Parts: sequence; C-alpha cells; structure tokens
Amino acid sequence: MALPFLFVLNGVWVMSEIDALKGELEVLQEKALASFLKAADLTALQTLRVAYLGKKGELTSVLKGVGKLAPADRPVIGQFVNATKAALAEALDAAEVLLAVKEKQQRIEAERLDVTLPGRSATRGVLHPVQQGLNEMTAIFAQMGFAIAEGPEIEDEFHNFDALNIPQEHPARAMHDTFFFESSGEQQAKLLRTHTSPVQIRTMQACIASGGKPPLAVVAPGRVYRCDYDVTHSPMFHQVEVFKVDKDVSLAHLKGVLQHFLSAYFEKEVSIRLRPHYFPFTEPSAEVDIGCVFCAGKGCRICKGSGWVEVLGSGMIHPNVLKSVGIDSEIYSGFAFGLGVERLVMLKHGIPDLRLFFENDVRFLRRMGANT
Ligand SMILES: [Zn+2]
Repeated sequence: MALPFLFVLNGVWVMSEIDALKGELEVLQEKALASFLKAADLTALQTLRVAYLGKKGELTSVLKGVGKLAPADRPVIGQFVNATKAALAEALDAAEVLLAVKEKQQRIEAERLDVTLPGRSATRGVLHPVQQGLNEMTAIFAQMGFAIAEGPEIEDEFHNFDALNIPQEHPARAMHDTFFFESSGEQQAKLLRTHTSPVQIRTMQACIASGGKPPLAVVAPGRVYRCDYDVTHSPMFHQVEVFKVDKDVSLAHLKGVLQHFLSAYFEKEVSIRLRPHYFPFTEPSAEVDIGCVFCAGKGCRICKGSGWVEVLGSGMIHPNVLKSVGIDSEIYSGFAFGLGVERLVMLKHGIPDLRLFFENDVRFLRRMGANT
C-alpha cells in the first residue's frame, strides 16, 4: 500500500481526504480478496459478491465519501474506485470458476459408482405351490373347452349333500367329517363345504333356471374343509371338480378326459386304470389310479410296491343328481370327478408331507417356486 500524503492542520497530522479514501479502498480490496479465497461454496461466494459489490455493499458505502472531495479530485478517485471494482469482480469470477470445479468434483466423488461391486438382488415372490397347481390344472381343462366356475365355501345341506344323492342319515355324511355352523332351529344347517361338488349342483341349477340346457362342461377349483389333520390330511385343502353333461356322454369320454389331463399335468404319458368304487353321486363310480410316476410301475415306497397310485374319484353322474336339478336323465348323461390338488402337487414334485404346504416355510416355498 502506498503511504498516504500527510499534512498538518491545526497542529495535528491528518491525511488528505483523497488519500484517506484510497486507503479505505485498498484495505477493502485486500479484505475482500482474502474472503473470496476462503468462501466455502458458490452460495457463500454469492453472499460476498452482494456484500462488497451490491447496492448496499461496502464499496458503495466507501463511495459516499467521494461527495466530500474537491471536484478536481473526484475523477481521480473515480478511476481508483473503478479499478477496485474491476479487481473485485475479476477475483469473484475466478473464485467462482474454482468453486464450481470443486463442487463438481465433490458431486462426482459422492456419486461414484463401483461397477465391480456385486449387485443388490431384489427378492422375488413366488406363487404358492398349491396355487401353481390349481392354475396348471385349471388351464389344462380350460384348453379342453371346460368353463371355469366357482361357488360359495359356506354351503347348505341341500347343495353339499341332498342334491348329490346323500340324503339325511346316509352313512356318507359321517365320512365327510363336516364342520357345521350352529343352527338356529328351522333353517337348513350351514356348513363349510366338504367338497367342490356343490358347484356342480349350483351350475346346473343356474343353467336350467335361466332357461338353458346341456351341454355343460365345467371345471370348478376351490377350497374345501374337513375335520381331519395328519400327514396326508389338512382341515382345509383344495379340490378341482370337473363335470360334463350332454347327450350320450359315456365312461369312454370320462377315461379320455382323465388320460389327457393326467398326462398333461405330469408332463409325460401316464398309464391310468379305473377301479370300481362307491360314491353316492355317481353310478357307476371308479377310483382312478395312475402308473407310479416315481418308479414307472416297478414298485416303490410311494406306491407301496404296487406300481399304482390313487389320484382321484370319478364316475357317471347319478340320475338322482340330474333329477335334483331338473335335468332329464333319460335324455342327458354326464361324468364327474373330483381331485385333490395337494395330492397331485405332492405326487408331481415328490413332496412327502402335506403339512409342508401350510407351514409357510419360506425355504420350501421358494424351492417349489423355482420349479416352475
Ligand atoms: Zn412307485
């Protein structure tokens, strides 16, 4: 800094006004330049720009002193002020460039992506194996032209038993281990359906009630309930009911549909056999076995050495069932069968215990999900 010119006034050393102003400007410039270098970021720098060069900034307040100068001095100090202003502006611009570069680098550093790190895999849910089984089975029947139908899980005795040729006191009612709701006297007892066969009754009733008539070909998947729990039984399980009613439907049609369905579901040509059996709602009735899918008929633990595994119950719809819904059994006949979904899924995937389906062990469910 140049030394200001001093002179004596009334015996005191004083600076000339112009030199005092110049001195102030020099101090201001030094202070400003130092503060620009210390600015932490662009926002702080902008605050400094306003503080020094703004309308109410420090430079402006110094300029207020110019008015006190002699008119001849004003251009001199004017040049000085302009030089200071230019120096500050230049320094601010330079600092701004530096800070911008610095901030960009910081941002890049913060957003740095290490492409060699292993990715975070998102957990994917899978369909429950029983639901997968239901979907696969229903899809096969749908491809064969069967329409999908559903019915209520809370049923009455008429749809669950009476209409299916299981009258009151019939021993088959006891076999079903039914969950009954508490009955309030007059009304028909409500119950949790013990099979999906009531959907057969409801579908045929709805068809007749709307003035329709067979042919009817329906697949009805759903939950059913029985009071039973062990390795092969659960109080809630799933069935798929399949039936067809038309003129001249025969046992041969039943066998053809079963053969196609079971081979499609197990994804290989399976041999089937029909064993005579008794069900109240079909006549004749047959239990259906497939050649053991584990030992190819040679005999193993699953088929208990017989080479055959029972998979479902079937038969020709009993004339009494058709009569109960108002279909003339002299003109129409039909076949029906009901299969246990869990049982078929267990056989297809070699699952030893039915309870695995209901324990919700994620490891089991995930492994099963990976099968499809
Ligand atoms: Zn076997």
